[in-house]
Amino acid sequence: MRIVVLAGGIGGARFLRGLKRAAPDADITVIGNTGDDIHLFGLKVCPDLDTVMYTLGGGINEEQGWGREDETFRVKEELAAYGAGPEWFGLGDRDFATHIVRTQMLDAGYPLSAVTEALCDRWKPGVRLIPMTDDRVETHVAVAPADGDGERRVVHFQEYWVRLRAAVPAEAIVPVGAEQSKPAPGVLEAIAEADVILFPPSNPVVSIGTILAVPGIREAIADAGVPVVGLSPIVGDAPVRGMADKVLAAVGVESTAAAVAAHYGSGLLDGWLVDTVDADVVGRVEEAGIRCRAVPLMMTDVDATARMAREALALAEEVRGA
Ligand code: GDP
Ligand code: CA
Repeated sequence: MRIVVLAGGIGGARFLRGLKRAAPDADITVIGNTGDDIHLFGLKVCPDLDTVMYTLGGGINEEQGWGREDETFRVKEELAAYGAGPEWFGLGDRDFATHIVRTQMLDAGYPLSAVTEALCDRWKPGVRLIPMTDDRVETHVAVAPADGDGERRVVHFQEYWVRLRAAVPAEAIVPVGAEQSKPAPGVLEAIAEADVILFPPSNPVVSIGTILAVPGIREAIADAGVPVVGLSPIVGDAPVRGMADKVLAAVGVESTAAAVAAHYGSGLLDGWLVDTVDADVVGRVEEAGIRCRAVPLMMTDVDATARMAREALALAEEVRGA
């Protein structure tokens, strides 16, 4: 079975670990979000690709959900001693090596997709990880003016998310460069050859939404003619972790499992899993033309996550049979 998964960082990576356990023989292609990418200290940092690679490759900091295990921050301390920032973005010594190798290869002319494949040669994530595009796409956020200064500011997504903790209202989320970008080699082919397409409980706006903003990807998924099943990142009207509610508000979507399903829409989604605490919305989602089931959706450990993945695959078969 060929499975295609669109993934952000932590939510996507943890789900993939469960999916690999649930479907050990499946051929899994992951289309990764690169809208979170940022240049720091002259290096190209791809937080979501790295979270997937480290999580599946056994190098992730488990508690944090991002970055390397057994990490130290000597380089960052030395940079700070020179007054070189930003100080708000956590880059550890081990992690730096990944960004150095990536940047060297990009500077030598390799596209990001080839660089990612080379990095995965070390990590052996057990999936084929492809960035959504080889072109530069950067999510920017327009934030409301701070009291007094009256100026609307546009900041990089990482500054909004990590430095500002999404605590100032976002007025717009813009994947800069997306309109001119092309899917990376292999992306459309993987979608066309897929038996099932899954949306893990990743951020619907700045993870999956950004991937879908690359021209051609949304259309390819809608036209693939295979079941497309998603899992809600919103449980009990709030994100399980992080601040997805803030970016959903910015695009006018309520933070409920039903509203996120409607945001993707029946043109894209065939099936949607909500948590058992949201069982009351199943009828409403189905009325919108999306087959819906309520099952436990907390990724507390790999077994629980594998059960979620099995439910998603079962719903896909149900949709296929319908
Ligand atoms: P990011 O790029 O690191 O923010 O990660 P993703 O976009 O892949 O995933 C973030 C989303 O994962 C958040 O909106 C969370 O609500 C969701 N999430 C995290 N843990 C869980 C979980 O255990 N269950 C569910 N249903 N969603 C989760
Ligand atoms: Ca991310």
